[in-house]
Amino acid sequence: MKTITDFNFENKKVLIRVDFNVPLDNEFNVTDTSRIEAAKPTIIKVLEDGGSVVLMSHLGRPKGKVNQDLSLQHICQTVSEVIGVQVKFSSECTGESVENVVAELNMGEVLLLENLRFHAEETNGDKDFAEQLSKLGDIYINDAFGTAHRAHASTTVVAQFFPENKCFGLLLAKEIDAIEKVMQTGEKPILAILGGAKVSSKITIIENILDKVDHLIIGGGMTYTFIKAQGGKVGESICEDDKMDLALSILKKAKEKGVEVHIPVDVLAANDFSNDAETKIIDVDKIENGWQGLDAGPRTLENFKKVILASKTILWNGPVGVFEMEKFALGTKAIGNYIDEATKNGAFSLVGGGDSVAAVKQFGFADKVSYVSTGGGAMLESLEGKTLPGIAAIEG
Ligand code: AMP
Repeated sequence: MKTITDFNFENKKVLIRVDFNVPLDNEFNVTDTSRIEAAKPTIIKVLEDGGSVVLMSHLGRPKGKVNQDLSLQHICQTVSEVIGVQVKFSSECTGESVENVVAELNMGEVLLLENLRFHAEETNGDKDFAEQLSKLGDIYINDAFGTAHRAHASTTVVAQFFPENKCFGLLLAKEIDAIEKVMQTGEKPILAILGGAKVSSKITIIENILDKVDHLIIGGGMTYTFIKAQGGKVGESICEDDKMDLALSILKKAKEKGVEVHIPVDVLAANDFSNDAETKIIDVDKIENGWQGLDAGPRTLENFKKVILASKTILWNGPVGVFEMEKFALGTKAIGNYIDEATKNGAFSLVGGGDSVAAVKQFGFADKVSYVSTGGGAMLESLEGKTLPGIAAIEG
C-alpha cells in the first residue's frame, strides 16, 4: 500500500481529494469539524515536507448545478482554523484561471477548490474533467474514505493521470488497515456484531463475513426474522416474512462453516413504538400480538457479554435496539461498554457502516473502541467484500 509516508513533497504541488462534506447550520457555520480534523495530518505532512496543497471535495448534493448554499467558500475559514494556515479559495475547479492560481501557489500555501459536484462531470466520472483536475498537482493523494466507493472523477478517474505519483492519505490508509485487521489479519476469535433494522440491508455483509469470523451476534430488528423463521412468535416486531428462508439458509451456512451464531433469547418488548410505551421483558419467541421487541433483554446481554469479552477482534455494525429512544437504548449502550472492556483487555475493535457511528458518538464510545470508520457507505461496501474503486485506482 503506497501512502504519503513513501513520498517527500518538497517543492511539489499536491492535489488532495478530501471529504469536507460537513454539516452547516442556517448561517453556513460548520457544526461538526471532525471530517476536517480527520484530513489534517495528511495536509500537515505535505506542508511540513515543503510542498503546497490543492484541496478538492464535494459538499452536499448540488446535482451538477451551481448552488451557493453548498459553496465550499462557507467552510474556508474553518479549514484555515483547523489546519492553522490561511486557506485560499478558488471558485473554479478546472480551467485556465485556477491553473494560473496553482502555478502561483508558494510552498506552504493551501488552495481549496469550489464544490466538485457543481459539475455533473464529477459524479459521471468524466475522463476529460478528471484530466483537467490532474493539471492542478504533481502528485495525487486520495484521503476521502467517505467517497472511496464512488467511481467519480476526483476519487477514481483522476488517479490514472498520476501513474507513479499517487498514494493514499493517512486517513484512508488507516481505514484500509482497520478493515484488513478484521477481514484478513485479525487475531482469533473474531466476532462480528450485526444489528440494525433489516436482514435485507445486511444480507450481503452476513454472507461475506461468514468466511471471516468465528462468532456472529445478530441483534436489533433483524432478530425477529430469524426467530419467526424458526417457529417463534414475534407479535408486532419488525419482521421480513419474505426473508425467512434466507435467515434459515444463513443459519445453515454458518453451521457448515463452524461459525457460532448468537441470537437474543429475551427482549425488552413494548406495546407501542414509543418512548412512553408500556414495557416488559419476555422470551424472544413468545411475543404476543400487540407487543414488539425493541431492545435486547438482560439474559441476552449476559450471553453477548461473554462472547464479546472472549473475542480478540470485534466488528460492530448496527444497534441492538431502537437506541434513538432512551427507553430502548440500554442494550446498545451495554454492547458499547462490553466492547470498551474487551478493547482495554487488548482486543481490536472496529465500529462502522451505516448508523453505527451515530450510536457510538451519541453514547461517547468513539474514544473507547480501537477505530471508528469515517465512511458509512464505503465501510458497508468493504464489509460486503466489494473492491472500492477509489482504493483500486491507487493500487492499480
Ligand atoms: P441500520 O441502518 O440497518 O443499522 O439500522 C439502524 C436502525 O435500526 C436504528 O434506527 C434502530 O432504531 C433500528 N432498530 C434497531 N433495533 C430495532 C428493533 N428491535 N425494532 C425496530 N428497529 C430497530
